[in-house]
Amino acid sequence: MKVVHKVEKCIGCGTCVALCPALFEMEGAKAKLKGGIAEGGNFVLEKEFTPEEQECAKQAAQNCPVTCIIVE
Ligand code: SF4
Repeated sequence: MKVVHKVEKCIGCGTCVALCPALFEMEGAKAKLKGGIAEGGNFVLEKEFTPEEQECAKQAAQNCPVTCIIVE
């Protein structure tokens, strides 16, 4: 599974951090995908996710108000 954070669009609302602190933290005025690798202006994390991480990543993606989290 792969999580993409389109950081440019992030408005720093903190929803993803509240829903999925295993994968997201605040850094200044935006969220940061923990362990994410910079790729074309986005941050990408591709690895074996635990079932809990998979679930909370999906929750974060569904609840991000600007849809800047993509789970593939
Ligand atoms: S939920 Fe979306 S807009 Fe809000 S901090 Fe997370 S990535 Fe940014």
